[in-house]
Order: sequence, then C-alpha cells, then structure tokens
Amino acid sequence: MAGTVHVIDVAGNLSLVKERIRKAMADVEQPGPEPEIVAVSKGHDVTAISKALSAGHRRFGENRVQEAQEKWPDLIGSYPDVALHLIGGLQSNKVDEAVALFDVIESLDRPRLARRLANAMAKLDRKPRLYIQVNVGEEPQKGGVSLKDLPALLDLCRKELGLEIDGLMCIPPKGDDPALYFALLAKLARRHGLSQLSMGMSADYEVAAAMGASSVRVGTAIFGERRS
Ligand SMILES: *Cc1c(COP(=O)(O)O)cnc(C)c1O
Repeated sequence: MAGTVHVIDVAGNLSLVKERIRKAMADVEQPGPEPEIVAVSKGHDVTAISKALSAGHRRFGENRVQEAQEKWPDLIGSYPDVALHLIGGLQSNKVDEAVALFDVIESLDRPRLARRLANAMAKLDRKPRLYIQVNVGEEPQKGGVSLKDLPALLDLCRKELGLEIDGLMCIPPKGDDPALYFALLAKLARRHGLSQLSMGMSADYEVAAAMGASSVRVGTAIFGERRS
C-alpha cells in the first residue's frame, strides 16, 4: 500500500524552536530567562514522543488525562526526570488521576476544582505545581477563570485551602493580536505576585517569549500536524 511518509525531524524542530526563541528575545531590553519549552504531545504517539526524549527533551504537555495515562507511565518509568504538564480542562472526576500523574497542572479555573485538588493532594501526598488558567478574552466557550473572578479564586486557594499557586496560563482568542493578551496576563501575574507565565503556542511562542513567558506550549511546530 502506497502512502506518503512524513518523517518529522523532532530533534531538529526542537532546536529550531529554541533558536527562534533566542532570536525573538535578542531585541528585548533587560530580557529575563529564556522560557522553558513544554512540548505538547497530545495527539501524538509514543514513537514521536520518544524522538523528543532521545533528543534530551524532558518537559511535555498533554491536554487529556486519559490519553496521558495511556502514553506516559511507561515512558516515565524509563525517563524518571520527565516533567508532565496538564494543559487542558480538568474534570472534577479526574482529579485524583491528574494529581497522581502530572507535575504541573495549568488549568485550575474554578473553586470546586481547587477544593478537589486540595483534597487529592492531601490524600495522595503529591504536590503538582499549580497555575490558574485565565479566560483573557472572556470567551464563553473557553476554559479559564474570568478576569473578575481571578482575585477571589486566588484568595480561596491561598488563604482557605493552603494551595500554593505558581503562575497563570492563557489561550488568547483566535484572530486577535496575542500580544495584547500576553501583556494582560503578565500584568495580572505581577499584580498577584505570581512568577510563572505559561503563554504562547506554535503560532505565537516568539511573541510570548519576548513578552516574558516562563514557559511556552508548543505542539505542531515540534511534532507536526496532529492526527484526528
Ligand atoms: C494543543 C495546545 C497547545 C499546542 O498547540 P500548537 O498550536 O500545536 O502548538 C498549547 N496549549 C494548549 C492549551 C493546547 O491545547
């Protein structure tokens, strides 16, 4: 059976993304550290992921708990220093599984989820780092806490639940200039004393890097188009 074979050069793509981040930051006055690259492996199989691991990459993102559970436990057995980020919406009934598997949960966005996370972290004695996802474009269909509810959610986490929040994450609305939203997220992080800023995807990670992202979430530019 004939078919087009696409060989994706994952290691080469990772180098290219790093190089582009460096270039994007070259013009920045007083640049901070380069952002970490979260290689978003959703929709890609273990073969593709293994190429990134062989190239020395260790930080990955998945958007679904179940898919991550199918792919990652064996890989983590071989590469215990992997850091896995949950970047997709988290349902309350998947919280235990998420806390057990992920090192960073970027999609905390509501009080009920914060309470579930606090319980699961106590029960499992595991402390993934937590970021709050902010719905910067106030889009009804998107995850993330609204701008007006962010202060109360932070208060709940810090004061009532004793949850440390490390940073903020956002996905800007399609079609708008992402820089506006990255600037907004950076401002919110400063205001609330949060050091980590997860922003920027394949289409706009260079902008995000230049605007102070501590991590960028890059899928397609590393692994190619997703199946499905
Ligand atoms: C899929 C996804 C990404 C990566 O998207 P690419 O455009 O493939 O780089 C980043 N962040 C989130 C939240 C995602 O769901």
